[in-house]
Amino acid sequence: KTFEELGVRDDLRKAIEELGFENPMPVQEKVIPHLLNEDGDVVALAQTGTGKTAAFGLPVLQRIDISHNVPQALIIAPTRELCLQIGSDLADFSKYIPRLEVLPVYGGSSIESQIRSLKRGVHVIVATPGRLIDLINRGVVKLDDVHTVILDEADEMLNMGFVDDINDILSHVPENRKMLLFSATMPQEIAKIAAKYMHNPQEFVI
Ligand code: AMP
Repeated sequence: KTFEELGVRDDLRKAIEELGFENPMPVQEKVIPHLLNEDGDVVALAQTGTGKTAAFGLPVLQRIDISHNVPQALIIAPTRELCLQIGSDLADFSKYIPRLEVLPVYGGSSIESQIRSLKRGVHVIVATPGRLIDLINRGVVKLDDVHTVILDEADEMLNMGFVDDINDILSHVPENRKMLLFSATMPQEIAKIAAKYMHNPQEFVI
């Protein structure tokens, strides 16, 4: 299949063509149509390097209402490096979507400048768990309009001890949001999170 057949919009296709993406990778073939067209949650067992960032990033960007200047999608990742990488990939993908704002927020850097950016308005937040909790507690991030939540490298987040933070964050997003969980392995704790927060998730093994 082509990206067009998967339903990816022409402005996004133009950007990924420039990045050299010719054909969708397997995780993209599975996840993109699901995120664009179907209700319900997704658990995807996928290693890094399989193309998962575009698999969730393209449909997330396509489903943003630009005129509505509030966070609509939340992507949570275990480390500052991954958070920045996802932010940079999403900025590349959204090159031809004017005014779409993606903001990475992560620990170890000035919270003040992240707060200023949040106040200017963003559509997509890419966050590490601890910093996001801090911003939620300061009342500067509003998650009431989030319709899509992505947990990337969920097993790493558990290994790093973020399970309480994840639970806390998920209690602040609307219950009817769509949730996608990506993990390289499927330990018991991940199955528990999936069972607790997801409704009959479709499972993909890449
Ligand atoms: P990821 O697993 O998201 O980190 O992606 C791994 C690498 O594959 C990144 O360098 C992407 O830019 C690249 N990539 C993702 N999707 C495609 C595609 N459909 N065609 C070619 N390269 C891709």
